[in-house]
Amino acid sequence: MVGSTLACALGMQGLQVAVIEAHRPDFDWPDDSVDLRVSAITCASQQIFTSLGAWDAMCRQRVSPYRDMRVWDATGSGEIHFDSADLGEPLLGHIIENRVIQFALYEQLVEYDNVTFIAPVSVTGMKIEQDTASVTLDDGRKLSAALLVAADGSRSKLRELAGIETQGWSYHQHGVVATIKTSQSHLETAWQRFMPDGPLAFLPMSDGSSSIVWSTSPEHADELLALDDDAFLDALQATFGDRLGRMISCGPRAAFPLRMQHAKQYTQARLALLGDAAHTIHPLAGQGVNLGLADAATLAEVIADARAAGSDIGALKTLRRYERWRKGDNLAMMSTMDAFKRLFGSRMPMLKWLRNTGLSLTNRTTPVKNMIMRQAMGLEGDLSRLARGKAL
Ligand SMILES: Cc1cc2nc3c(=O)[nH]c(=O)nc-3n(C[C@H](O)[C@H](O)[C@H](O)COP(=O)(O)OP(=O)(O)OC[C@H]3O[C@@H](n4cnc5c(N)ncnc54)[C@H](O)[C@@H]3O)c2cc1C
Repeated sequence: MVGSTLACALGMQGLQVAVIEAHRPDFDWPDDSVDLRVSAITCASQQIFTSLGAWDAMCRQRVSPYRDMRVWDATGSGEIHFDSADLGEPLLGHIIENRVIQFALYEQLVEYDNVTFIAPVSVTGMKIEQDTASVTLDDGRKLSAALLVAADGSRSKLRELAGIETQGWSYHQHGVVATIKTSQSHLETAWQRFMPDGPLAFLPMSDGSSSIVWSTSPEHADELLALDDDAFLDALQATFGDRLGRMISCGPRAAFPLRMQHAKQYTQARLALLGDAAHTIHPLAGQGVNLGLADAATLAEVIADARAAGSDIGALKTLRRYERWRKGDNLAMMSTMDAFKRLFGSRMPMLKWLRNTGLSLTNRTTPVKNMIMRQAMGLEGDLSRLARGKAL
């Protein structure tokens, strides 16, 4: 998602771009199926997709707006309700299947004669020289460019080959995902209940179902995956409660290990890391890919400015501007999410009191609530031109 976004933004500038992808995209799915992987997409990310001409294709497939968000603590009475109407906005964001995002970006990038999509091939080697970066592919090919971008996910091969270290830790949680049908409407609301083992989120889909992310211990996640559908739905009902009525049915399930990870550097001469290759974050606020999309829009802008000034797009000086711009914002979001995860995961009575009081207090303090909403919608901070709907 992040690499293709950058490729569209660079294709738009007329640069010669090669996108190297290990998996051949499969965009042939049954109409009545919902992808297991979905993302909450902020208004800022929507604007980036719009600026790149990919948003309409997502809407033609399926996007699910959410207008409200309700968050509550299983161990007390604390609750917060975010309502887009309080900001005078029609919605807080959209839930979109990852494959829909990938498909729309792919459709857009193949429109550019100057963008080549190469799949399925993996990068196996990398060499950085004075004026070029080269990669070796597992089919024996070699490609060279003025700039190499690593958008190859949290276990980035390019980051490893470049010797860039990361800091972070495992959350000792897995995120169990599935699509659930409930007897009551989700009311275009994102629901999240904080349990001591981790949050359980229900994200509204436009077909009336909800996509869940259930963060829990790895052992519990294994147990949940092993249950038959009825037993899984019973466990889900017992944990979530009855705010959406009865749990009626569920689709396939999968689990993903959750980590906090931050690359110590985002750049070297001729190399830039972005998206999960640079940072991974707990999914509790649905911000991970949004940070990556902001990285892509920012790097595209830095490159456009460098070209306009006649500078080298792969020079460390050019790339440092991208790193300085994004690292602070990413770190701030990562630290906030980490603090949330710890606060809500604690069984200490003092912290339980603090989070319940904090939730209720924040719920009653409109300016603070509105600021959190604007932050969650991606509307705060130093936004790139693409995120503001301006031309590159
Ligand atoms: C359970 C869960 C729920 C989430 N929910 C949300 C959410 O609601 N909102 C949100 O913003 N974020 C969410 N996230 C985070 C989000 O999924 C990630 O931030 C996002 O997928 C990162 O995108 P990316 O393009 O940087 O990396 P990836 O999605 O990991 O893509 C990397 C790509 O690189 C390719 N690749 C890897 N290695 C090589 C190689 N050697 N050669 C060639 N190609 C290679 C891979 O095939 C892949 O296509 C969630 C994460 C989890 C685990």
